[in-house]
Amino acid sequence: MTATAPAPPTGDLLDELRDWLAANWDPDLTVGAWWERLGLAGWAAPLLPADRYGRAVSRPDALRVAQAIADHGALGGPVGMGVSLAAPTIVTHGAPDQAERYVRDIVTGRIGWCQLFSEPGAGSDLAGLATRAERDGDVWVVNGQKVWTSGGHLADLGMLLARTDPTAPKHQGITWFAIDMRQPGVEVRPLRQMTGDASFSEVFFSDATVPDASRIGAVNDGWSVANTTLAYERAGMGAGGNAGPAGLAARPGTVAGDLDRRAGDLVRATPARPRPEGAGAGRASPARQYIDLARSAGRDRDPAVRQRLARAHTLGELRRMTTERHKAVRAAGGDIPGVANFSKLLVAQILRLNRDLGLQLLGARGMLHGYDAGQRRALDEAVDGRPAHAVTSQALQAQALPIFGGTDQIQRNIIAERVLGLPKEPGDLSRVPFNQLPRNG
Ligand SMILES: Cc1cc2nc3c(=O)[nH]c(=O)nc-3n(C[C@H](O)[C@H](O)[C@H](O)COP(=O)(O)OP(=O)(O)OC[C@H]3O[C@@H](n4cnc5c(N)ncnc54)[C@H](O)[C@@H]3O)c2cc1C
Repeated sequence: MTATAPAPPTGDLLDELRDWLAANWDPDLTVGAWWERLGLAGWAAPLLPADRYGRAVSRPDALRVAQAIADHGALGGPVGMGVSLAAPTIVTHGAPDQAERYVRDIVTGRIGWCQLFSEPGAGSDLAGLATRAERDGDVWVVNGQKVWTSGGHLADLGMLLARTDPTAPKHQGITWFAIDMRQPGVEVRPLRQMTGDASFSEVFFSDATVPDASRIGAVNDGWSVANTTLAYERAGMGAGGNAGPAGLAARPGTVAGDLDRRAGDLVRATPARPRPEGAGAGRASPARQYIDLARSAGRDRDPAVRQRLARAHTLGELRRMTTERHKAVRAAGGDIPGVANFSKLLVAQILRLNRDLGLQLLGARGMLHGYDAGQRRALDEAVDGRPAHAVTSQALQAQALPIFGGTDQIQRNIIAERVLGLPKEPGDLSRVPFNQLPRNG
């Protein structure tokens, strides 16, 4: 990212934000008008540099900013792939005019983004991707297929990785583009998951086009650009998610249809639960919810349950301390190699532990899940008021994090090879031209 002045101390930052909220929050504004104010003032994406619509704050401070907005009763900033991945990638690798063109629309929520990286034959081995982009004058013509595209059906723009030189080794012939998702050559087919939602899609490109002016970074240098995107993805996951506590209610972009709604109507009804200093956002927060569940189920004296609760709490504390330690090391000008990978593994472990604990506490009731509002109501009325739906939802979703943004096994490979210096896997094909790589069938 571009160099900026050091961020102010947390207390000053939050005082400034509270004053700003008192002067600016108006529930009668539309979501679009509110996000315009919030984004241009640097509060929607405070991780970004100060000269790029941000405040250059640390990740824990960005979560404190989001919490302060929620505590004020205001609608949080736009969340999703634009703020968490596209903006920092474009700020890092894009030309200044590209940063201005894209980042302004991201922090004000005007444009929604998706990530077009994975393909049916390229997930863990992302550099094996086969979607082609061929240059034709000032545009590139794109053909191929992506899969697992979260929010693809709601996106205006996509972060596209495409192969631009099949004769180069696989990591060296890839380019990163910002492609318009709303054009005739792009077909988005939503996929239904076991949670009942359809939050990701398959995306097919048939002679879709993207201007060369929408290329981020040099031609064939997309692998290093993509690594920036992935580093932000992992860091966000390790910190407990990229979404702030107040930001989940409204969706950015022209497709979701939230920009013209009244901002006050989308503020979450339930105030966010206060968290201990330094803790991340709700999804991976330590065992509190499960302690309450154990109490309400009369199982809080059960030694096996207590053991699991203690373990969940311990892992949560380890995650919190790792974040704080990393922050201190960075403030002193250093870094901890592999910390994003390690933190993602830790959060994945916490989610699995919570899943098993929640289902253990629900017993047979855990086999039932409400897939729509009617089913949820029926199930909630059928049991003794326990928040079973939240538990079964979290249990069904617990499979996601150990896969996306690089599976657990891939995180371990990265730590082994790049941090511990262990030998690479045998059969290294990284120097073979992409079009000479062995293929199935
Ligand atoms: C909820 C969700 C949302 C997602 N959203 C997006 C998105 O928005 N955009 C996007 O581009 N992608 C997205 N993904 C895709 C995700 O990045 C891939 O699923 C992931 O990279 C794994 O790829 P794969 O599914 O092809 O599995 P594979 O790569 O086929 O892996 C299958 C299994 O083999 C293991 N394995 C593979 N290679 C190795 C190795 N070298 N060493 C050890 N084990 C190995 C893996 O760990 C895994 O267990 C999403 C995935 C999920 C689950």
